[in-house]
Amino acid sequence: MTPPAAPRGRGSCRAGSAGFPCRHGGGYNIPMAPIPHPDQVPQRPGKIVVISGPSGVGKTTILRRVLHDLPQLMPSISATTRPPRAGERDGVDYHFLSPAEFERRREAGEFLECCRVYGRQHWYGTLASEVDPRIAAGDWVVLEIDVEGTLSILERYPAAVTIFVEPAVPEQLGERLRGRGTESPDAMARRLEVAHRELREAHRYRHRVVNDDIDAAVAAIEGILNAAGLPAARSSAPKPSPAAHQQPIRSTESRSVSSEEPVHDRRPA
Ligand code: ADP
Ligand code: 5GP
Repeated sequence: MTPPAAPRGRGSCRAGSAGFPCRHGGGYNIPMAPIPHPDQVPQRPGKIVVISGPSGVGKTTILRRVLHDLPQLMPSISATTRPPRAGERDGVDYHFLSPAEFERRREAGEFLECCRVYGRQHWYGTLASEVDPRIAAGDWVVLEIDVEGTLSILERYPAAVTIFVEPAVPEQLGERLRGRGTESPDAMARRLEVAHRELREAHRYRHRVVNDDIDAAVAAIEGILNAAGLPAARSSAPKPSPAAHQQPIRSTESRSVSSEEPVHDRRPA
């Protein structure tokens, strides 16, 4: 029997319940990379890993170290309309796109998910070209995306390993964002407002890691990935060290925890 045609056009660029940074009007008609019908889902030997958490919690810092330690893990480079920060490189930290180019790709259905965050200012999105070919090739691909993007990815990749990084106390977020020194007071206020909403969504993730001490957080995430069956590194496929690993990383006293609770409900209440 011929399976029905794959539905098109449903990703995270969708209007939805209130309270999420990515929610915005007019999303339902935007073409997205098609979600295949279950009968048409090809064998996907690779795996998606999603890392989320509020702005300033330390996701990027942790991920750089994890990618360095686990060269078999491939980063998905997101696209964004946000301007690069000092030291960020196009094609390494993000694909930095003009709003017009982002829109063109969005209209062309090139994103697995995309959304606009932080006061509807900038777009962020995961390009299908960053993920699908690698998964088909058996690689593990890690995405650093927000909660809304995670829900969309789980529709397509329900077996994704989802990890939420939390601060030990909420005050750490403001302190770290101030310490990073990349945001204007306005932008920081927007990020912190969204951060407090995002913290309430941590329960949707299979694993939770507290980033108080950076070494402990990195070790916890590497432990989660190894327990999930991350294949050993292929010695024939070396990967360049991520540039940002060269940045100094502060360390404080801390705890890191991980929980194995399943994701029961993938949609925001
Ligand atoms: P995110 O990617 O989640 O927005 P970053 O990785 O940019 O956060 O980290 C924000 C700031 O916090 C950076 O200046 C980073 O060096 C610092 N940082 C990260 N983890 C810790 C930690 N465990 N203790 C103290 N500072 C940290
Ligand atoms: P930043 O501007 O600090 O680099 O990233 C802001 C936030 O955007 C991050 O916390 C991350 O969760 C989110 N983000 C980055 N890339 C993507 C993406 O491709 N898709 C989605 N949905 N969110 C992203």
